[in-house]
Amino acid sequence: MPYTIVSNICEGAADCIPVCPVDCIKWPEPRKTNSKGFEYPYIEHDTCIDCGACLAACPVEGAIIDEAKPELQLI
Ligand code: SF4
Ligand code: SF4
Repeated sequence: MPYTIVSNICEGAADCIPVCPVDCIKWPEPRKTNSKGFEYPYIEHDTCIDCGACLAACPVEGAIIDEAKPELQLI
């Protein structure tokens, strides 16, 4: 099951992007700002291979979850 970035918890540091082995963490075009005032990326669920590297790299508790919840990705 693909992972999900919870848009309104993410703080946009993007530590997750370089560790993804399949390059499936993207910025919305145009970029958007969440309720905390941060820009946030999202995970392409069709491409994610469920490896967990992004979750291990993310410094923000709850910003990435190991479930497919497309409704939490505001893109
Ligand atoms: S999901 Fe985590 S590592 Fe990725 S941009 Fe958001 S806060 Fe940063
Ligand atoms: S679980 Fe792995 S493949 Fe999926 S977005 Fe995170 S780093 Fe990329």
